[in-house]
Amino acid sequence: MKLRAGILGATGAVGQKFISLLQDHPWFEVSAVAASERSAGKLYGDAAHWLEESEIPSRVAELTVQDASHVLLDCDFVFSGLDSSVAGEIEERYARAGYPVISNAKNFRMNADVPLLIPEVNPEHLGLIDTQKWGSDGYIVTNPNCASVGLTMALKPLHDAFGIELVHVTTMQALSGAGYPGVPSLDSLANVVPFISGEEDKVESEPLKILGKLSSGQIQHDSFSISATCTRVPVIDGHLATVSVKLRKSASPEAAIRAINAFTSPSSVAHLPGSPEKALQYSDDASFPQPRRHANAGQGMTVSVGRMRACPILDLKFVCLAHNTIRGAAGGAILNAELLASQGKIKHRSEVHALN
Ligand code: NAP
Repeated sequence: MKLRAGILGATGAVGQKFISLLQDHPWFEVSAVAASERSAGKLYGDAAHWLEESEIPSRVAELTVQDASHVLLDCDFVFSGLDSSVAGEIEERYARAGYPVISNAKNFRMNADVPLLIPEVNPEHLGLIDTQKWGSDGYIVTNPNCASVGLTMALKPLHDAFGIELVHVTTMQALSGAGYPGVPSLDSLANVVPFISGEEDKVESEPLKILGKLSSGQIQHDSFSISATCTRVPVIDGHLATVSVKLRKSASPEAAIRAINAFTSPSSVAHLPGSPEKALQYSDDASFPQPRRHANAGQGMTVSVGRMRACPILDLKFVCLAHNTIRGAAGGAILNAELLASQGKIKHRSEVHALN
């Protein structure tokens, strides 16, 4: 029997991506959906302004949307794509009621006892779950901001091989990262908006937690410095970033490319259904990577890296790209849930009640 997933924020851009990616998932099925009181009481097919290319799965279209603020969904665990203005309170309520909460929202990402997880990078951080104190078996696991995830995955093999000392990054972020309806067309078309509220703080802090070491039940954040400029560009999906790094141990571009090409997922992650064949791909093509051509690599779960070269100011520079609503949101959260389920940390709720 499949584990039953509830989707909080099911009508939004990320919520819809969950529903689309979970169709025919081998382990999980969508059993309930919730959003704001604006959508509550309607059939999902009527409430959602559907943006995905595939049709709404008919079983989900017929579910009645519940008010996320006032009910607990009938499910074994929840994925949250809630707006951050409400995610904190609602996710906490689920954790206190004993549900595993797999969240995309920013609210709990930097809490000391909450894993900020990229399964290929820091699976051991799941140990933090045992330190959470909600008064129940519930817990919260988060995935990174959609611009942090590609940067962190590209930095991981370089950090392991050479040590990162400084990072200077400029992001060019897709419109779908702002949700629906998102950025007004007169601001976004044929334009670049040089500011995304709150984004630079996340890109400057989240990689340090993710690349930190778990010791005695606590994460020691890494201490290198990141300077970020985040911009919004008229691209639909895929956040591109140009990155310059200073390394602790000098390395040629060729050695850095070898480190990226040698990166493999831990065996506990590689066999999961949502794990891409390659978490990182590198190409020597001078015009690689591009959002329109490469954001969907590995069903949107592969991070693409290109243009590794010497940097005249720091040591090396490169370009990286991640699909923001898949690797940077719903797909990343589903991989997190698969890792948890493979470790027996998501159970059928009847089993949870029987154990208690
Ligand atoms: P979105 O399209 O604006 O969707 C927001 C969702 O939250 C909708 O389902 C909305 O329901 C619900 N909601 C809003 N106010 C609510 C309330 N008062 N009570 C209950 N539900 C409420 O946003 P999104 O882009 O999907 O982002 C969702 C979350 O994921 C955000 O926290 C965002 O920061 C994060 N995230 C997004 C991306 C991305 O690439 N888009 C990537 C990573 C993380 P209604 O439709 O009923 O209003």
